[in-house]
Amino acid sequence: MSYASASLKLFNSLTRQIEQFQPVHDGEARVYSCGPTVYNYPHIGNMRAYVFADILGRTLSFKDYKLTHVINITDVGHLTDDADDGEDKMEKIARTAAKSIWDIAQHYTQAYWEDIKALNIRQPARWTIATEYVPQMIQFAEKIADRHCYELDSGLYFDVSTVADYGRLARAQTEDGEGRIEAVEGKRNAADFAIWRKTPAGEKRQMEWDSPWGKGAPGWHLECSVMSGEVLGFPFDIHTGGIDHREIHHPNEIAQNQAFCCAGGLDLPANSGARVWMHNNFLVERSGKMSKSSGEFLRLQLLIDKGYHPLAYRMMCLQAHYRSELEFSWDGLAAALTRLKRILIAVGQLKERAGNAQAQPGARFAPFIERFDAAISDDLNTAVALTVFEEVLALKKVDPSEKLAALGLMDGVLGLGLLELDRKDLRLRPKGVEVEESEIEAALEARKAARAEKDFARSDALRDELAAKGVEVMDGDPLGWEWKLG
Ligand code: AMP
Ligand code: ZN
Repeated sequence: MSYASASLKLFNSLTRQIEQFQPVHDGEARVYSCGPTVYNYPHIGNMRAYVFADILGRTLSFKDYKLTHVINITDVGHLTDDADDGEDKMEKIARTAAKSIWDIAQHYTQAYWEDIKALNIRQPARWTIATEYVPQMIQFAEKIADRHCYELDSGLYFDVSTVADYGRLARAQTEDGEGRIEAVEGKRNAADFAIWRKTPAGEKRQMEWDSPWGKGAPGWHLECSVMSGEVLGFPFDIHTGGIDHREIHHPNEIAQNQAFCCAGGLDLPANSGARVWMHNNFLVERSGKMSKSSGEFLRLQLLIDKGYHPLAYRMMCLQAHYRSELEFSWDGLAAALTRLKRILIAVGQLKERAGNAQAQPGARFAPFIERFDAAISDDLNTAVALTVFEEVLALKKVDPSEKLAALGLMDGVLGLGLLELDRKDLRLRPKGVEVEESEIEAALEARKAARAEKDFARSDALRDELAAKGVEVMDGDPLGWEWKLG
């Protein structure tokens, strides 16, 4: 039985409208998400992009579409300057770290996959690795070269005036957009970009391939056009990324896709290669610590080291709409963690009462599931969907097994692991705290005994001893939490 009958509406950045989702292939949804450039650890802002893509994927599955989700790993071609100039990020980091690019790519890909797992982001059908698609990239470039490209000493360039509606996706004024792109001598239009970058004479890159335009490497935009088209076929359904990609990377992908397969202008969105283009807004951090280039930055591991469960960050993302800017703060993260704790305590109590693991949510739950479906189908309104989840959790005098089944159904979309986690799982040991749980429990027992005997001096002393070891005793905590670390 399907519980998801509301029609799915999504905001398409290309048409700038909320549209009803209409799959290209009946009953299927094919989604491509721009993945990370693996030259450093992802920061939590980057991970917001994949939490968003995951919610989209889970929603499509909830709504019974057969989902094929692809995320790429960029291990070559992304330049240091976002305006498509400068050095290759991977080559640069390999040179400064005196390591092979392949080792660097492998290390940071693994780190990224660990974050994916920690955030309960489902595995896509395929991870495409850019360097495994270079022959296809050359073929793609060969096909469009004559009509849409020209060669300069530095590479093969795409002439953006050869396709209709170039840049329609971008929000910045064309002049601003173009102004950000460094002039390369000989370019016909400021926005033209390299689809193949030649290795300069006398130089050797760690990663380079032979091509009709000489030894070199593919451009970053070409990579995504090729990997998405190869695996999903043009036009596919949905292409996702962060809003920064709306300005240059995706307009350039679209131009290449038009040149490759679709010829026509963008009044017909499918000519862009995908029917719908979706972008998550940024996670912002006022102190600027998130940026990869500024030394210490906000990695998921930093949150974990400070004792925050990674799913508290997922909760934080879900509390905001993906198209709104989300400001990161430690207080905000702590509030998200508290919300998770509350839910897990209630789910824990429910599990003790629910006996039938095969139960289905009965009629009593239908109106709630309907509202949950309506919220998530309304351009992925996770904030409202979460509140419906909590309303169900608070329902009294209902069958506990059915209630658990209803909650499980909703968490299949939210992906917070609410039925699998135990409240104790949320209590992480901050880095540097040495005290053992058994020691804490023993001290708390002794303190309880002291209080029973009205020996408040001893009780206070025990609390202070614990505090000196980094343990905060939480008398009267409304969540029934006795202590916390850090
Ligand atoms: P990158 O590895 O730089 O290509 O970025 C990976 C993904 O993270 C892309 O989809 C970016 O658009 C997205 N992104 C980058 N910074 C942020 C941020 N602060 N908040 C949300 N998404 C971001
Ligand atoms: Zn991309």
